[in-house]
Amino acid sequence: MKEIKIALVGNPNSGKTTLFNNLTGSNQYVGNWPGVTVERKEGKYKKNKNILIQDLPGIYSLSPYTLEEIITRQYLLENDVDVIVNIIDGTNIERNLYLTTQLLELNIPVVVAINMMDLVEKNKDKINFEKLSEKLNCPVVNISAINGNNVIDVIDSALKIAVNKKQIYNLYFDGEIEKSLKLIELQIKDTVESSKLRWYATKVFESDKNVLETLKLNFEQKELIESYIKKCEDLLNDDGESIIIGKRYEYIENIIKLAVKKNEKRTTSTSDKIDRVVTNRLLAFPIFIAVMFVVYYISITTVGDYLTGFTNDTLFGTWIIPNVTLMLEGLNIAPWLTGLISDGIIGGVGAVLGFVPQMLVLFLMLSILEDCGYMTRVAFIMDRLFRKFGLSGKSFIPMLIGSGCSIPGIMASRTIEQDRDRKMTIMTTSFIPCGAKMPIIALIGGALFSDAWWMAPVAYFIGVLAVIISGIILKKMKVFAGKPAPFIMELPAYHIPLAKNILKSTWERGFSFIKRAGTVILLSAVVLWFLQSFGIVEGSLVMVEDNNTSLLAIVGKMIAPIFAPLGFGTWQASVGTITGLIAKENVVGTFGVLYGFAEVSEAGNEFWNLLATDFTQLSAFSFMIFNLLCAPCFAAMGAIKREMSNGKWTWFAIGYMTVFAYSSSLVFYQLGMLITTGVFSIMTLIALIILAGFIYLLLRKNKYENI
Ligand code: GDP
Ligand code: MG
Repeated sequence: MKEIKIALVGNPNSGKTTLFNNLTGSNQYVGNWPGVTVERKEGKYKKNKNILIQDLPGIYSLSPYTLEEIITRQYLLENDVDVIVNIIDGTNIERNLYLTTQLLELNIPVVVAINMMDLVEKNKDKINFEKLSEKLNCPVVNISAINGNNVIDVIDSALKIAVNKKQIYNLYFDGEIEKSLKLIELQIKDTVESSKLRWYATKVFESDKNVLETLKLNFEQKELIESYIKKCEDLLNDDGESIIIGKRYEYIENIIKLAVKKNEKRTTSTSDKIDRVVTNRLLAFPIFIAVMFVVYYISITTVGDYLTGFTNDTLFGTWIIPNVTLMLEGLNIAPWLTGLISDGIIGGVGAVLGFVPQMLVLFLMLSILEDCGYMTRVAFIMDRLFRKFGLSGKSFIPMLIGSGCSIPGIMASRTIEQDRDRKMTIMTTSFIPCGAKMPIIALIGGALFSDAWWMAPVAYFIGVLAVIISGIILKKMKVFAGKPAPFIMELPAYHIPLAKNILKSTWERGFSFIKRAGTVILLSAVVLWFLQSFGIVEGSLVMVEDNNTSLLAIVGKMIAPIFAPLGFGTWQASVGTITGLIAKENVVGTFGVLYGFAEVSEAGNEFWNLLATDFTQLSAFSFMIFNLLCAPCFAAMGAIKREMSNGKWTWFAIGYMTVFAYSSSLVFYQLGMLITTGVFSIMTLIALIILAGFIYLLLRKNKYENI
């Protein structure tokens, strides 16, 4: 059998990825909001490896406005797809069919898969599948991707029609429109593939910029086409695009009348009832804040802390470290190697691994919130707030995703239509603390704030605040000015999260940390250990007793003055901040090496005490603020570069974050010092000037408000 290519196409959130995973047995990320699948994924049908399945980004139409729509359309036009499987959300057939009408014109066989049948049945809506199939002229199957019901039918139907290689469709534009389309077809027939002729003609009629560019028509052709369109437009008193859209909806309306019967008597569902409370104008924010508090509180302070305490004290403290040390001593190897293994590797990697349980708990809870549908509501709630300073709630979706890891968050910004809003979102997404920043927060909390319960939630809201402040400041600049795009998003019904989904996504996110601990963190720990163990004494390189005289200390001390005004001018803190760019949890790994995480004596682990003597509460908090807000790790910088696809913008973004972080920490620390000790120095003055600058940028009039 020859290879068969099936493309899954549908609106965002219709269940494409769920179906894809089900058919291919793969583990792609299923999310409850648009923009989760921004790149296409390919897989093989698990029962027949000759069947290739493509998961494409969700789209509302084939008239692209966003990057994901461009990706999907391009794919369908340029690849030899055998069958399109059009996934439709059965609870919202009318809106979903708009895309269907366009897919049918591509002249590729289409199978319509009505998904979410479990919900349709629960709502007691009636759908006449035969009628639908007859009217659309293509097979219609009903499935429930989440339960795997009937999903095999999708493939069976697809295989049956794959041989046809064409799709007959019923959407005949009548009268003057049909006449104009025919005339356009005549003009373009030599430049496009004959099977796609009608599709291109319709797009030309809609004056689709993208298509017009690829067609490269000559002046004469353009003039003629213009005149055909103009004639039709004058006659129907509307513009070309609207005429086509109107016709499509007319057609859909007729189908719906015949084939779909919504349950009129439907009582308000539980989902609606919950939404009345959680999206309520007054309650929405307090509830969101409370939920986030609970999430971070549980993961960092209670359950997470218990697990981390266990890993740190029991697993490493009394089990691994003493035993490894004993073993190394027994082996009689060189002291430097013992040092490298226990202080370098175990110290660095161990300090990071110690926090993995906390991260897992955090990821677990975020996954639950996401999967049950609450996070979608948060984007909706945030829209109200963001709109006030000119951003749409869509910008909050990358930030929600970014609370796991900034990289997919930054990538999710592709769903944002306006370039300026997209850039702004990319610039601010990594302010939201990602999972890797949790260890920093927990470390500072543990060493200086006796594990205060409010540390992690406060760190999260510092991130949110940084986004909001940046939003207000940047929107008043000319490059970012402009009204936000409308934000339309379906709120999917709440559902009890699937244990499988949640555990999978928790594990995937968590595992990347474990993997990193064994690779980059390990490597960096080894390098750091060497640099902090050797120093130059009387012109030659020797191992030093006190790492204050090491090579690393010399380099660190050169950087330290930069951070001194922020309160953490020690060489260790400077080294930690720099190595944090490799991966944020590396700050903890670095401290593990430099403060001897692996040195356990009779009195217990001195690590925490040593750390505490180098910081005050004020300087530690300032250190945390800086490390949370400054440039993200290299991998995230790479993502920024890819998404900006422009070197200048990339540097602007990274520079902005770093300056923002530096100013915030400076103001926080210097004013903190002023309040607690009454010391007023030149730095206090500078901090006050910066603060005044912030206030000015926040409050100044927006000159570009009406653009
Ligand atoms: P995509 O954006 O089209 O890839 O959609 P996803 O596969 O990410 O699914 C969006 C949401 O719909 C997820 O929360 C899924 O769990 C949910 N979902 C998918 N299929 C079904 C289904 O058959 N029934 C119900 N109730 N939910 C579904
Ligand atoms: Mg998807």
